[in-house]
Amino acid sequence: MVEHFLGKEEVARSIRAVGTKNGIQMTGNDLLMRYWNGSVPIDIEKIAESCGCRLFMTDDFVNGCLKGNIIYFPNSCSMQKRRFIVAHLLGHFVNVHGDQVEDVKNFSDQATGIEKIANVFASDVLVPRRVLKFLVANRKTKITELAKFFAASEVLVASQIERIFK
Ligand SMILES: [Zn+2]
Repeated sequence: MVEHFLGKEEVARSIRAVGTKNGIQMTGNDLLMRYWNGSVPIDIEKIAESCGCRLFMTDDFVNGCLKGNIIYFPNSCSMQKRRFIVAHLLGHFVNVHGDQVEDVKNFSDQATGIEKIANVFASDVLVPRRVLKFLVANRKTKITELAKFFAASEVLVASQIERIFK
Protein backbone atom coordinates (compact mmCIF):
# COMPACT_ATOMS: atom_id res chain seq x y z
CA MET A 1 0.00 0.00 0.00
CA VAL A 2 1.28 3.42 -1.02
CA GLU A 3 0.87 4.87 2.45
CA HIS A 4 3.65 2.70 3.84
CA PHE A 5 6.07 4.81 1.84
CA LEU A 6 4.79 8.13 3.10
CA GLY A 7 5.93 9.99 6.21
CA LYS A 8 3.61 9.98 9.21
CA GLU A 9 2.34 13.52 8.61
CA GLU A 10 1.53 12.65 5.00
CA VAL A 11 -0.18 9.45 6.07
CA ALA A 12 -2.22 11.29 8.67
CA ARG A 13 -3.15 13.97 6.15
CA SER A 14 -4.17 11.46 3.51
CA ILE A 15 -6.25 9.52 6.02
CA ARG A 16 -7.91 12.67 7.30
CA ALA A 17 -8.59 13.91 3.78
CA VAL A 18 -10.60 10.77 3.09
CA GLY A 19 -11.92 9.82 6.48
CA THR A 20 -12.87 12.94 8.38
CA LYS A 21 -16.01 14.98 8.09
CA ASN A 22 -14.34 18.37 8.46
CA GLY A 23 -10.62 17.66 8.46
CA ILE A 24 -10.41 18.09 12.24
CA GLN A 25 -11.03 14.73 13.82
CA MET A 26 -11.02 11.16 12.59
CA THR A 27 -13.41 8.98 14.54
CA GLY A 28 -13.28 5.24 15.06
CA ASN A 29 -16.25 4.92 12.71
CA ASP A 30 -14.38 6.85 10.01
CA LEU A 31 -11.46 4.46 10.39
CA LEU A 32 -13.66 1.36 10.15
CA MET A 33 -15.37 2.68 7.02
CA ARG A 34 -12.00 2.92 5.36
CA TYR A 35 -10.07 -0.10 6.67
CA TRP A 36 -12.40 -2.67 8.18
CA ASN A 37 -13.00 -5.92 6.26
CA GLY A 38 -16.18 -6.56 8.27
CA SER A 39 -14.92 -9.41 10.44
CA VAL A 40 -15.03 -9.50 14.25
CA PRO A 41 -12.95 -9.48 16.42
CA ILE A 42 -11.42 -6.48 14.70
CA ASP A 43 -7.85 -7.15 13.55
CA ILE A 44 -6.52 -4.00 15.21
CA GLU A 45 -2.88 -4.72 14.44
CA LYS A 46 -3.58 -5.13 10.75
CA ILE A 47 -5.65 -1.93 10.68
CA ALA A 48 -2.87 -0.04 12.49
CA GLU A 49 -0.37 -1.26 9.90
CA SER A 50 -2.73 -0.23 7.10
CA CYS A 51 -2.64 3.28 8.58
CA GLY A 52 1.15 3.33 8.29
CA CYS A 53 2.00 2.36 11.88
CA ARG A 54 4.59 -0.17 12.90
CA LEU A 55 4.02 -2.27 16.01
CA PHE A 56 6.56 -3.35 18.60
CA MET A 57 5.82 -5.46 21.64
CA THR A 58 7.90 -4.37 24.63
CA ASP A 59 7.43 -4.07 28.35
CA ASP A 60 9.48 -0.86 28.47
CA PHE A 61 6.18 1.05 28.46
CA VAL A 62 3.62 -0.80 30.57
CA ASN A 63 0.72 1.28 29.22
CA GLY A 64 2.06 1.73 25.71
CA CYS A 65 3.80 4.49 23.84
CA LEU A 66 3.63 6.20 20.45
CA LYS A 67 6.81 7.55 18.88
CA GLY A 68 6.39 8.82 15.35
CA ASN A 69 4.53 6.05 13.59
CA ILE A 70 5.72 3.32 15.98
CA ILE A 71 3.25 1.90 18.50
CA TYR A 72 4.98 0.21 21.44
CA PHE A 73 2.60 -2.07 23.30
CA PRO A 74 3.13 -4.29 26.35
CA ASN A 75 3.38 -8.03 26.45
CA SER A 76 2.77 -8.50 30.15
CA CYS A 77 -0.91 -7.65 30.20
CA SER A 78 -4.15 -9.20 29.04
CA MET A 79 -4.86 -9.58 25.33
CA GLN A 80 -7.88 -7.27 25.80
CA LYS A 81 -5.77 -4.50 27.34
CA ARG A 82 -3.12 -4.90 24.65
CA ARG A 83 -5.75 -4.48 21.93
CA PHE A 84 -7.17 -1.42 23.67
CA ILE A 85 -3.72 0.18 23.97
CA VAL A 86 -3.01 -0.33 20.25
CA ALA A 87 -6.42 1.11 19.31
CA HIS A 88 -6.01 4.07 21.70
CA LEU A 89 -2.53 4.92 20.36
CA LEU A 90 -3.81 4.55 16.80
CA GLY A 91 -6.43 7.17 17.71
CA HIS A 92 -3.63 9.55 18.70
CA PHE A 93 -1.71 8.73 15.54
CA VAL A 94 -4.45 9.31 12.97
CA ASN A 95 -5.51 12.50 14.76
CA VAL A 96 -1.91 13.81 14.79
CA HIS A 97 -1.75 14.21 18.57
CA GLY A 98 2.02 13.73 18.55
CA ASP A 99 4.18 11.33 20.57
CA GLN A 100 2.61 9.79 23.68
CA VAL A 101 3.71 7.81 26.72
CA GLU A 102 0.55 6.46 28.28
CA ASP A 103 -0.39 6.48 31.92
CA VAL A 104 -3.12 4.06 33.03
CA LYS A 105 -5.31 7.01 34.12
CA ASN A 106 -5.47 8.11 30.45
CA PHE A 107 -7.69 5.08 29.83
CA SER A 108 -10.24 5.91 32.52
CA ASP A 109 -13.69 7.47 32.20
CA GLN A 110 -12.25 10.59 33.83
CA ALA A 111 -9.83 11.18 30.95
CA THR A 112 -10.29 14.49 29.11
CA GLY A 113 -9.07 16.19 25.93
CA ILE A 114 -7.08 14.06 23.51
CA GLU A 115 -7.13 11.12 25.95
CA LYS A 116 -10.92 11.09 25.86
CA ILE A 117 -10.86 11.36 22.07
CA ALA A 118 -8.46 8.39 21.88
CA ASN A 119 -10.62 6.34 24.29
CA VAL A 120 -13.84 6.90 22.35
CA PHE A 121 -11.92 6.17 19.14
CA ALA A 122 -10.61 2.87 20.57
CA SER A 123 -14.08 1.86 21.82
CA ASP A 124 -15.68 2.56 18.45
CA VAL A 125 -12.99 0.57 16.64
CA LEU A 126 -12.90 -2.47 18.93
CA VAL A 127 -16.65 -2.57 19.63
CA PRO A 128 -18.21 -1.15 16.45
CA ARG A 129 -21.48 0.62 17.17
CA ARG A 130 -23.29 -0.96 14.22
CA VAL A 131 -22.40 -4.50 15.29
CA LEU A 132 -23.24 -3.87 18.93
CA LYS A 133 -26.63 -2.37 18.04
CA PHE A 134 -27.40 -5.38 15.85
CA LEU A 135 -26.46 -7.84 18.60
CA VAL A 136 -28.45 -6.04 21.28
CA ALA A 137 -31.45 -5.80 18.95
CA ASN A 138 -31.18 -9.58 18.62
CA ARG A 139 -31.13 -10.01 22.39
CA LYS A 140 -27.44 -10.73 22.68
CA THR A 141 -26.97 -8.68 25.79
CA LYS A 142 -24.75 -10.75 28.07
CA ILE A 143 -21.67 -8.64 28.71
CA THR A 144 -19.43 -11.70 29.16
CA GLU A 145 -20.45 -13.12 25.78
CA LEU A 146 -20.20 -9.77 24.00
CA ALA A 147 -16.74 -9.23 25.48
CA LYS A 148 -15.60 -12.61 24.17
CA PHE A 149 -17.12 -11.91 20.76
CA PHE A 150 -15.28 -8.57 20.39
CA ALA A 151 -12.10 -9.76 22.21
CA ALA A 152 -12.57 -6.70 24.39
CA SER A 153 -12.77 -6.29 28.15
CA GLU A 154 -16.15 -6.45 29.85
CA VAL A 155 -15.55 -2.91 31.13
CA LEU A 156 -15.07 -1.65 27.58
CA VAL A 157 -18.20 -3.37 26.29
CA ALA A 158 -20.25 -2.09 29.22
CA SER A 159 -19.07 1.49 28.70
CA GLN A 160 -19.75 1.27 24.96
CA ILE A 161 -23.30 0.06 25.67
CA GLU A 162 -23.73 2.95 28.07
CA ARG A 163 -22.40 5.40 25.48
CA ILE A 164 -24.66 4.14 22.70
CA PHE A 165 -27.89 3.43 24.52
CA LYS A 166 -28.01 6.01 27.30
ZN1 LIG B 1 -3.46 8.43 25.21
